[in-house]
Amino acid sequence: MEVGIVGLPNVGKSTLFNALTNAGALAANYPFATIEPNVGVAAVPDARLEQIRQFIPTEKVIPALLRVVDIAGIVRGASTGEGLGNKFLSHIREVDAIVHVVRCFESGDILHVEGSVDPLRDIDTIDTELMLADLETAEKNIDKQRKQARGGDKDAQVAVTVLEAVIPALQRGQTVRSMTEFGVPAPEARKFIKALGLMTAKKVLYAANVDENDFLGETEAVRKVRERAAAEGGVVTPVCAKLEAELMELSPDDRAEMLKDLGLTEPALASLTRAAYQLLGLQSYFTAGPKEIRAWTIPVGATAPQAAGVIHTDFEKGFIRAEVYHVNDLLTFKSEAAVKAAGKMRSEGKGYIFQDGDITHFLFNEGR
Ligand code: GDP
Repeated sequence: MEVGIVGLPNVGKSTLFNALTNAGALAANYPFATIEPNVGVAAVPDARLEQIRQFIPTEKVIPALLRVVDIAGIVRGASTGEGLGNKFLSHIREVDAIVHVVRCFESGDILHVEGSVDPLRDIDTIDTELMLADLETAEKNIDKQRKQARGGDKDAQVAVTVLEAVIPALQRGQTVRSMTEFGVPAPEARKFIKALGLMTAKKVLYAANVDENDFLGETEAVRKVRERAAAEGGVVTPVCAKLEAELMELSPDDRAEMLKDLGLTEPALASLTRAAYQLLGLQSYFTAGPKEIRAWTIPVGATAPQAAGVIHTDFEKGFIRAEVYHVNDLLTFKSEAAVKAAGKMRSEGKGYIFQDGDITHFLFNEGR
């Protein structure tokens, strides 16, 4: 699962990407040099990790990670090949959700490609390019699907119905994510749309890049972004990319002090990353022992073997059962032994659906 950072040039994408992935590299000691320069990992801050550590002493704590791709600036005309055009659009097709950086900061020194700060115009500019590219994809696909549908192909018949709803919507200037009617049940439509890679169908988190003196996002510019997001069921996180980048340069102590001076409890990157994680439908469970306490990422609804498979595929194949309790039980009873004594440690089989905040030990058959 990964998120792609999009936005016009000079809105703060790289600044935000660097701050996010520095944090990830630091927290996770990730073998960073092995991935492409525009791909990184962000740590997903989770206060429960330190809470677990209070009761289960350990050598190290490893947070969940989120893959982030910095997609170069999209400009007006990108869908017809302006700027770096299509190459970057193809990167967006591959990500699972979009973090759309919108410039809300005023700065005389930093040129805005459109000449002035106007977040709604900027959102429309990007949406228009993505809608035009989606329209092209959809129109190219429909002829092929029609041919196959005439041959009796059921999937192709569904595809044609969906495309016949999507194409006019895009022509009217409607993003696919805001559509509710596809002529077939929505889950079926979404499956096809995802496979086709339509970009305006992806969920969006708006990162409103605010001024240093507006880190809570109280200006008119941010209010407008919130309104827009609310209308399409999206999410907004105000973030001052420049300030976040500066915070990341500091030692943990100095960072804590600066946050305190600003009246904040955590960097805005923390809430941004968590919001992206939620947008992707992800949650965490934990493993905890003397060597490490670690958060593992699973989709909401994952079964016990699927959760085990995130650690190692052999764990999934050889899954026998999972000993499970919830982090809240640990906070109440204060040790694993006490959790067990209170009867809160359960033995769960293959059908168990993992819950956010579960702490687990897996039992698996190594011979398989
Ligand atoms: P990109 O083209 O979207 O990747 O933008 P960059 O991250 O390269 O940022 C463009 C310029 O804007 C750089 O000079 C940044 O230092 C500056 N910048 C980024 N975020 C902020 C911000 O929150 N406030 C201010 N004042 N400047 C920022």
